[in-house]
Amino acid sequence: MDDLHGKVALVTGASRGIGRAIAQALAEAGADVAVNYFSRDKEAQETLALVAGAGRRGIPVQADVSNSSEISEMIGAVECGLGPVQILVNNAGIAIRKSLEEVSEQDWDRVLAVNLKSAFLLIQAVFQGMCRSGWGRIVNISSTAAQTGGITAPPYVASKAGLWGLSHSYAAQLMTCGITVNTVAPALIETDMVREIEAKPDLIPIGRFGGAEEVADAVLMLVRNGYITGQTINVNGGLYFS
Ligand code: NAP
Repeated sequence: MDDLHGKVALVTGASRGIGRAIAQALAEAGADVAVNYFSRDKEAQETLALVAGAGRRGIPVQADVSNSSEISEMIGAVECGLGPVQILVNNAGIAIRKSLEEVSEQDWDRVLAVNLKSAFLLIQAVFQGMCRSGWGRIVNISSTAAQTGGITAPPYVASKAGLWGLSHSYAAQLMTCGITVNTVAPALIETDMVREIEAKPDLIPIGRFGGAEEVADAVLMLVRNGYITGQTINVNGGLYFS
């Protein structure tokens, strides 16, 4: 199915894990994809090879998504290389697992900036172009941690809960422009992040980690659907029932 043919997507944190699977799924559905990453060029190139394998155009865009000037440069590069962003997936994120005694103000500032402020800055950078074209899709990748507290430290949980409020605010204000804004809340998905925080699959009622492609499926559904907005889709192996 290539019903996103001709659309331009920007996926943040697409060099690995969930972001890579989302970039691949969007390309297979027909979109051209800008692959944002922070430091891992080689992995970003591997994602671009998947985009090219789907027959779509892709460009690498290195930027720290917590930094507004790097975001401005990145959006300029996407517009020059592929065209205006019509699909934005705010996926880049960092997790920390520290005790309450260890977690610091610096942890708070960094995690909130990378996981939450970034989504605000990126939406601000693209929504007017989407409005002008009368079509746009924004998907923010949150976490089941926002509902359950999870095994990560408070800054991570707060950042992921904050994405819900952010999504609700933009969904309410942008729906008359043809833009939908939704959230996907995964539980433990088998990626580097889950390995780094040393999570165990027995925490999940279904009894296994999720696959990145299972999160990408939910994102793709939201991108294709123009009547779902302001919602959270849980991809969590039964960890939380909404
Ligand atoms: P991951 O494997 O650790 O990959 C993280 C991605 O984010 C990488 O592409 C990384 O780029 C990028 N990134 C990190 N900091 C960045 C920055 N400052 N600017 C730009 N890009 C940055 O993580 P993942 O498991 O795929 O997680 C993706 C998203 O899903 C995150 O928001 C995470 O919180 C959320 N999530 C994950 C799980 C899970 O169990 N895995 C569960 C719930 C929610 P480099 O490769 O260049 O470092």
